[in-house]
Amino acid sequence: MNIKQQVLSSISSVDELLKLDEIQKLLFAYPRSIVVECIRAYLKDYRKHVLSLSDEELMQLSSTEQFFVEGITSKVHHTMGNKLINVINATGVVLHTNLGRAVLSKKVKESLWSIACGYSNLEFELETGSRGSRYSHVEELICQLTGAEAAMVVNNNAAAVMLVLSTMAKDKEVIVSRGQLVEIGGSFRVPDVMSQSGAVLKEVGTTNKTHLWDYENAVNENTGALMKVHTSNYRILGFTKELESEELVELGNRLGLPVIEDLGSGVLLDLQKYGLPYEPTVQSAVKAGMDVVTFSGDKMLGGPQGGIIVGKKRYISQMRKNPLTRAFRIDKLTLAALEATLKLYLDEDTAIKEIPVLHMLTIGKEELNKKAKKLYNKLLNKIGDQCSLAVIDELSEVGGGSMPMHKLPTKAVAVSAPGLSIDRLEEALRSYRTPVIARISKDRLILDLRTVFEEEIELIPEAFQWALHRQNMPMTGVGEGEH
Ligand SMILES: *Cc1c(COP(=O)(O)O)cnc(C)c1O
Repeated sequence: MNIKQQVLSSISSVDELLKLDEIQKLLFAYPRSIVVECIRAYLKDYRKHVLSLSDEELMQLSSTEQFFVEGITSKVHHTMGNKLINVINATGVVLHTNLGRAVLSKKVKESLWSIACGYSNLEFELETGSRGSRYSHVEELICQLTGAEAAMVVNNNAAAVMLVLSTMAKDKEVIVSRGQLVEIGGSFRVPDVMSQSGAVLKEVGTTNKTHLWDYENAVNENTGALMKVHTSNYRILGFTKELESEELVELGNRLGLPVIEDLGSGVLLDLQKYGLPYEPTVQSAVKAGMDVVTFSGDKMLGGPQGGIIVGKKRYISQMRKNPLTRAFRIDKLTLAALEATLKLYLDEDTAIKEIPVLHMLTIGKEELNKKAKKLYNKLLNKIGDQCSLAVIDELSEVGGGSMPMHKLPTKAVAVSAPGLSIDRLEEALRSYRTPVIARISKDRLILDLRTVFEEEIELIPEAFQWALHRQNMPMTGVGEGEH
């Protein structure tokens, strides 16, 4: 018998492994079928791995029972664990679309939880005992905050735009400036949403300049609306002209046409006093006289995913009757989270302090520095012997296609690991139990503290320790890491 055959024949059987104490423990916690399936899959991988090794490598291969138990246990945990898990966002990008965009306020937790786990008056009027509207719970609040006459909420802003166009301009032309034909990441493109909604896009002007007379000349008997789209994620600079909201409204009024604005982000506070660039607020669009304004719930507003539509009562009433509303309707969890988030806006200081997006965007230099020093010291303690560390000045981004030209000065910890591949380290951090998402710049890992919560700082050095340990281990080719 050669060594390969020896190793293969020494591998325990599924039945033998099932008798082990550690595996018995797994059987208490998880369905038997899953455990058995994981053992089979693990053994199959292991055999394949054995066949791929040279005799020399085989001599070093561990095939103790303990080794199998660890591998199988982590496979079972991985199989049974949640696939959607929390990660630590050390990228500094506040509205990171791939990492879930806006993080909700802890103040939202209680409402969200109790509405999720109990019956509620979602569509029930408690005063009359008759059927109510799910939108009624937030409409008053949204109107109070924005100054609008009426409001409703759908699944996201893309749905909001589609519903607005389908209700107000089906089979009619909607005039939009060529400079505002936005594409947002994913597949939201103004021309496509327009055609899906049944409205007909009428582009006017040029990429850099669109005048009042461009709109005037395009109007005909089949025009349904004028539309302004906020160029959230890009800017056209230099020799440019776009109409102010007021000018477009004035034209709409003169011609008897409704005017729609897609604001994208939906800012409710003037953030200029916190050092951020000007961004049109929902209030300003309403005040300018827009008939309908749409914006996202989970961009700068800092709430759950949602599309908020505010505007004149008669248009909002028409939208409620559109069959698309049923397809786009938001669920009770979103409503609960949105109501709780909007309530925080009743007091500006509370909003800035309690809504994570606003807090992260307005966080002071000293606080960032304090967090960076804390992480630096903890890292120094745990991995200072293997890595070189420094607190550095960096720039973070708002993200989510908002304020594309603005970078926020921040503090970060830079980590370099001499003799190790920085790419592999970054990858290993991503596969930690609580993945740490960082970025690489000039052969260093950059951990931006703007988006790292105080209570997460402790976890980062542990992740590094684990990742570095993994770098030094020979690859076994089996097992699933410490997920
Ligand atoms: C982000 C954005 C959208 C899409 O909003 P979602 O809530 O992501 O669906 C639409 N229009 C503009 C201008 C945007 O910035």
